[in-house]
This record gives sequence, structure tokens and C-alpha cells, in this order.
Amino acid sequence: MEKKQYLTDGEIVFLPVSEEYLTDESGGMGWAEQICFPTTAGEACLALERARQAGLPVTVQGSRTGICGGALPQGGLVLNLSQMSGLSGEAHPERKELLLTVQAGVTLSALRQFLDGFRKDGLSYWFHLNPTEEQATLGGIMACRAEGGRAAFWGPAETWLVQVEAADFAGKLRRFQGGELEWILGDEGHNWVILSLELRLPERPAHTGVLLCPFGELSGVSRFLERKDERTGLCLSMAEWLGVEALDLLSENAEALAKEGMSGLQRADTLLLEFTAPGEEEALNGLEELLGLLEECGCDADGVLMGDSPKERERLLTLRHLLNETAAGKARMAAGAVGRPPLLLDLAFPQGIEPFVAQCRRQAAGPWAAWGHGAAGHVHVHLFYENEDEYARQRETAAALLEVGRRMGGVPHREFGRGKCRTADGSPVEAPCPGEGERVWTSRYV
Ligand SMILES: Cc1cc2nc3c(=O)[nH]c(=O)nc-3n(C[C@H](O)[C@H](O)[C@H](O)COP(=O)(O)OP(=O)(O)OC[C@H]3O[C@@H](n4cnc5c(N)ncnc54)[C@H](O)[C@@H]3O)c2cc1C
Repeated sequence: MEKKQYLTDGEIVFLPVSEEYLTDESGGMGWAEQICFPTTAGEACLALERARQAGLPVTVQGSRTGICGGALPQGGLVLNLSQMSGLSGEAHPERKELLLTVQAGVTLSALRQFLDGFRKDGLSYWFHLNPTEEQATLGGIMACRAEGGRAAFWGPAETWLVQVEAADFAGKLRRFQGGELEWILGDEGHNWVILSLELRLPERPAHTGVLLCPFGELSGVSRFLERKDERTGLCLSMAEWLGVEALDLLSENAEALAKEGMSGLQRADTLLLEFTAPGEEEALNGLEELLGLLEECGCDADGVLMGDSPKERERLLTLRHLLNETAAGKARMAAGAVGRPPLLLDLAFPQGIEPFVAQCRRQAAGPWAAWGHGAAGHVHVHLFYENEDEYARQRETAAALLEVGRRMGGVPHREFGRGKCRTADGSPVEAPCPGEGERVWTSRYV
């Protein structure tokens, strides 16, 4: 952060903006005149009020890990909430729940650390939303509705969100509860600045395990996803699928894979499963049944990797994050070199992933990869390019796939956010987005 003071207004200091706060994980670059880092709701409201009086547009930032450019400022003031990082908890062992109040700038990683060290009356608690990026803030996660793979099993944010305190852009505070939370979730800082959240967290499951399961064919992945609710004595809590092209992409990141001890991964359509069980014995018995079901569906049981200890579980779960990072890094490099935005598509299919992924395989003419939240029928497609010609070709493919996907009944997946609702040529449109119809450009840039 710059030390030089630019403008002081009451308790709030507006500073010149250094370059890092003009970018985010989308790889884009914005511009702004000033930035401020409030530490309390009062300071944030004061900053909003002053910005309104000065006629400055405001862009809200958390950790700038969003991949859609939503945190890129377009002039005016950046309101960066990363220093609003307080959290406090009150356990209710009789109800087996923890009530937690967090400021909007608390990161997923800080929350996990807090929960790891929090144990009362023999109980510990967990936060199940898992958008994989540990540096994302709770405010940013809620604003983008970034749920991750567990939401299909453990429920969406609304299930454990008690209330949210947010301010409008005039700096007026308001609390949201129940049905009103819909106004906040997915708003992406267009109308509301989330300042703090009250969470109701459940007891941590006694036993958790992770499996990485390679399949001979994509149809086997689909078969398993259709039958996943058959009783196996275990509770599935995540079913992420990784297309074979995604495994190829991962193999490009050989150094990172080696660091995680994951070199030599089988290149196959793969499922990353997480399960929970009330105890060790149930886990062992259930695991046998689960492996049987996987094999019946065409999984190569000998190739299954299993993570039972916390370290091994993390190692396998890291793979999902590494994939996002590898794709984002590749896209960012191209975006920087060619001056074009990343080409992404996010659709969810009620009938499952297979028909659309098969279509992608037929139509793809350049490098691409896809993965997603299998249980939600979600397909996240990344199309890569290295120069202007490839960009033009890949963009055409992406637009064609989007059309085919919609005809197949695909709906924009609500995760990730719409960013600044870019139009087809990449220029931003006025926020907020002009209606639900616009959401079809779920990948904003396509
Ligand atoms: C490697 C990687 C993997 C990822 N994987 C997933 C995934 O699996 N699923 C998924 O959904 N997402 C994923 N994401 C993206 C995810 O959306 C972001 O990480 C997160 O939602 C944004 O949090 P942030 O604090 O970084 O917000 P920022 O990037 O700073 O902001 C994102 C948007 O939210 C708004 N915003 C931020 N904070 C607030 C606030 N307090 N009040 C109002 N508006 C606010 C901003 O204005 C902007 O529009 C991934 C990102 C990366 C880099």
C-alpha cells in the first residue's frame, strides 16, 4: 500500500492507487483515482458517503481473486475491504452449531484456520462452501455466489447464512435476512457493499475421505453421477469431474504436480469425490460399497487414489485448485500478450454433463479443457489461444458452443459472477446488468 496520504476525510484516508489494485485474476487492468481500506462498517459507510458527495464511482474489492473482472475499477474510488478481517464465534453445543460473525474481508483461509483451532465441549465446526481459492474473502464469495462443489450436497449459502450487514452506495446500512438475502447473493457489488456476515455453522463430520477416480469413458462418469445417491453407507459431500483434457492441461504444470507428489496422474475422465461418515467403522464399510459402485460404473478401481489422513485429503483436493490456477495462469498470459480477455463458458445441464461435453469434443478445433461440479451438471469450459488468429477462431467456437449448450437446455451456472457484464466486444456495459437475459453471457467475454 502507498504511504503517501492523498486526501483525509474524517477517519477515512483516500490514497493514490498502486497498480496491484487495478488488476484481478481475470488478467484485466482497470483504472482509478483513489483507494481506501476501511477497517470498520462505519469507515466503509463514511467512504461511500464521501465518494457519493464527490461524484466518484466506487468499485468494491475483496482479495481480487475473481476471474470475471468484477473487481477491476473503471475510474473513481476503489473500496478495498481486505482490512475488514475480524471474526468472533459463539458455540451452541446443545444445538451442535457455531454462530460466527465475520467481517467481509475475512478470507476463506483465515476462516479455516480459525475453525481448525476452535473446539468447545468436544465439538468442532466446519464451513462447507469451497470455491477452492483460499484467499477469496467471505464478502467476495457471497457477492459472486461462489459456492464450489459441496453446495450440491450441503446446500447453498442461504442454508447457513443467518444475516448480512451491507451498505448501499450512499453509505446507508441495512440488514438482510431470509428471502432478502437473494438481493445480496450474486449482486457482485453492483448495488450493495457487504460489510459483515453472520454464519450458522454445523458440526464437523467425524470422518472425511477423498477419492480420485479415473474412468475408461465419460459415460461411466455420468453413470456414477446418476447412481451416486444409492446407499453406500457414506454421505457424498462433493463430486467434481475433470475431463481428460483437464488432466492433459494439468500435466503441463509438471513442477507443481511433482511438488504435490502427484506426477504420473492417469489421463482419463476423472471424478474427485469427497465423502463423510459418522465414524471410522462406517467409513471403512461404506468405502467398500462405494468402490464397488464405482467399478460397476466403469471406474478403473486399481487406479483410484485415496486420501484418508488430513494431509492426503488436502493433497487430492489441491488438484482441483491447481487445475483452476493452471488454466487461469495460461489464460492470463495469453490475455496479456494478445490483449484479449479469457474465453470461458459456464453452463449447467439438468440432464447431466455428458451430451454437452461430447459436443465440445466434436466441435473443439483448438486447445481447451473442461471440468465442473458434476452433481450440479455444471460444465466449465476454458478455450485457450496464443495469438490474435487463434483468439478469433476460439471465440467463434465458444459462441457456437454457447448456442448449442443453450439449445441442449443448459442454463448459466450462477457461480463465478458476471463481472462487469462485458458485451461481446469486451467493453463494459452499465452496471447493474440489464436483466437476467444478459446472464447468458455467463462467461461475460464470449
Ligand atoms: C484459482 C481460482 C479458483 C477459483 N475457483 C472457483 C470455484 O471453483 N468456484 C467459484 O465460484 N469461484 C471460483 N473462483 C473465483 C471466485 O469467484 C473468487 O475467488 C471469489 O468469489 C471472489 O472473492 P474476492 O474476495 O477475491 O473478490 P474480488 O475478486 O475482489 O471481487 C469479486 C466481485 O465481488 C465484488 N465484491 C467483493 N467483495 C465484496 C463485498 N464485500 N461486497 C460487495 N461486493 C463485493 C467485487 O466488486 C467484484 O465484483 C476461483 C478463483 C481462482 C483464482
